[in-house]
Amino acid sequence: MTANEYIKVRFGRHMNECTNEEIYIGLLEYVKDQAKRKDIAGGKKKLYYISAEFLIGKLLSNNLINLGIYDEVKSELEACGKSLAEIEEIEVEPSLGNGGLGRLAACFLDSIATLGLNGDGVGLAYHMGLFKQVFKDNLQCEEPNPWMRHHSWMTSTDRTYQVDFGGFNVKSRMYDIDVTGYDSVTTKLHLFDVETVDESIITDGINFDKSEFAKNLTLFLYPDDSDDNGRLLRVYQQYFMVSNAAQLILDEAVEKGSNLKDLPDYAVIQINDTHPSMVIPELIRLLQIRGLTMDEAINVVSKCCAYTNHTILAEALEKWPIHFMMKAVPQLMPIIRELHNRIHIKYNNPEVDIIKDDLVHMAHMDIHYGISINGVAALHTEILKDTELNAFYKLYPEKFNNKTNGITFRRWLLYSNPELSKLIEELIGPGFKKDATELKKLEQYMNDDAVVQRFLDVKNTRKAVLKNYLANTQGINLDQNSIYDIQVKRLHEYKRQQMNALYVINKYFEIKEGKKPSRPITVIFGAKAAPAYIIAKDIIHLILCLSEIIEKDPEVSPYLKVVMVENYNVTLAEKLIPACDIHEQISLASKEASGTSNMKFMLNGAIAIGTMDGANVEMHDFVGDDNIFIFGEDSDTVIKRYADASYCSRDYYEKDANLKKCVDFIVSDKLLSVGKRENLERLYNELLNKDWFMTFPDFKDYCATKEKAYAAYENRTEWGRKMIKNIANAGFFSSDRTIAQYNADIWKL
Ligand SMILES: *Cc1c(COP(=O)(O)O)cnc(C)c1O
Repeated sequence: MTANEYIKVRFGRHMNECTNEEIYIGLLEYVKDQAKRKDIAGGKKKLYYISAEFLIGKLLSNNLINLGIYDEVKSELEACGKSLAEIEEIEVEPSLGNGGLGRLAACFLDSIATLGLNGDGVGLAYHMGLFKQVFKDNLQCEEPNPWMRHHSWMTSTDRTYQVDFGGFNVKSRMYDIDVTGYDSVTTKLHLFDVETVDESIITDGINFDKSEFAKNLTLFLYPDDSDDNGRLLRVYQQYFMVSNAAQLILDEAVEKGSNLKDLPDYAVIQINDTHPSMVIPELIRLLQIRGLTMDEAINVVSKCCAYTNHTILAEALEKWPIHFMMKAVPQLMPIIRELHNRIHIKYNNPEVDIIKDDLVHMAHMDIHYGISINGVAALHTEILKDTELNAFYKLYPEKFNNKTNGITFRRWLLYSNPELSKLIEELIGPGFKKDATELKKLEQYMNDDAVVQRFLDVKNTRKAVLKNYLANTQGINLDQNSIYDIQVKRLHEYKRQQMNALYVINKYFEIKEGKKPSRPITVIFGAKAAPAYIIAKDIIHLILCLSEIIEKDPEVSPYLKVVMVENYNVTLAEKLIPACDIHEQISLASKEASGTSNMKFMLNGAIAIGTMDGANVEMHDFVGDDNIFIFGEDSDTVIKRYADASYCSRDYYEKDANLKKCVDFIVSDKLLSVGKRENLERLYNELLNKDWFMTFPDFKDYCATKEKAYAAYENRTEWGRKMIKNIANAGFFSSDRTIAQYNADIWKL
């Protein structure tokens, strides 16, 4: 049955008599029906990828591509005078993630299904997701993001569980989203919801009663954790997620014939960051209820669980106070104490204890009672082994391994950049769609100027698409002839959007002083700040103020434009990344574990300005000095500077007149005329007195490197060669490669 026939049966009308809304719903049901006809991944052993976030993006086109019916449905629509793009507008992007970690989980699901592996995702169905970002008076405001619709990709199942908390219990239900592999089997994303969730307890903005757990467990992703109530709610949410996951895992194993002592033959669990860590004591608890002894249960669980570390930022390694655990999940504390006591007696080393100063160190539990601990890029894993987790590495060198992150090329190339996919296919054939390393064949065209020109033409086409999209959706006008210089990612001081903003100020002064760039520059930002992260919100304020000042200044605006897109999400990323000339990967060396937007940009022929951090290091290894703009201090220097506490930002400020001028501008009358004194002064003081992520030492090199990159852009043919070199070497960063490595080294499905 074609989509058209399906819609005729469903609505009793031909597609061209339906509204766009009806066509969308028709296609949604049609795709779900087609997905059901595919084989479901099978096998005795199953992977459970548990994650607090799955930033999956819109699914219609992605599913059409993976099911092999994209072109067919597109032509059917066109025959009715409709475009797939306008139908896609109807779909609301699911709001189940923050940023890189959640997007990684989504790319992994795509690759697991595509490789035909028996693996499902497990997470939560947050009704309001992460907040929706809106700008008012140059400030970020947060609004609820109700993304669920009556017709959606989620299908209700009849699997329900009881989850017990201290003093009360709730009933859960499992909802499933089909994960369609590319020309392959389907797997599932299981999202649990609490039956008593109540959206009406939300008052103004994203505020709600944090103590009404049965009503709020699945309202928002990571509710504000700036106070104890918010932090406690996270414990409740996490336990709700893992208790459901653990019950599902045991039930499915038993259904397949497990006696539970052989659970490792039936299940392997990937713990994505520490949010799902309580799955370890929860499984031990449930196995005891089902008849295993404590020794047996610990032994079994220790052979099933693997932990991925995503950050070395100390504040992100969760440690929960014992009194939280006693209140929320008292049934787990005796087990956690037992796990702690065994380690304490065995190693007699406080550094590796699970309970310290009345805090439960979730990552420590994962490392002691799991089969694997992996970092997410080569440099990150080395830093874990050498410094952050060195005490553990000495105990278990064999458990440590690296899995450099990856991205799915279906979404980030085939779907988001069809023009580039088509050109690549014409040059090297379709093999790269299943084997990303075939992209390497593109290198043979680097000296063919006619082909180089075609890559430049595709970039121009995509720049026009972005220009139209931003004009229509956000009222932003881009100059297509300008360089698109883009930094999109969560707002965090370590990612150093503030350094990019200081560069903008530097450029503003240069233009004011008559030093005009040979080509206009458009600096595009996209970033949400956590609602309680004050300085991050001040940085957004600075960027929005700069945008306004520059826009209103006729001396500067022809040469420089600053844009901050509102509510950066996957849908915007899909438009921004193919259109980008230069992407900013400027985190303080040692702080960005991997990054994945760097990979998406590379694949789409953008050139990086970056520090030797995360996966940038590996990108540099592939493309060489001439095809990436590296600057800044290296991770050894940074780590040493933290260790000896020798950094003093004010010294740099006082020694570098240009830097001083740029920093002072933050609190100048000019900025205060459009911004808020409190916010701007706070940011100014933070930089001057702390600058914890060391923007000042890198600032000069950063500015010089940007000038070098802009100058290189003017040699268009050379630039086109750099683009091809980047695309040709992006194959390693396919999540198919990453997942094949997880399976070979850890999951063994
Ligand atoms: C890829 C992606 C990220 C991760 O970006 P980084 O620059 O690697 O932090 C965040 N948000 C969205 C919407 C993404 O698509």
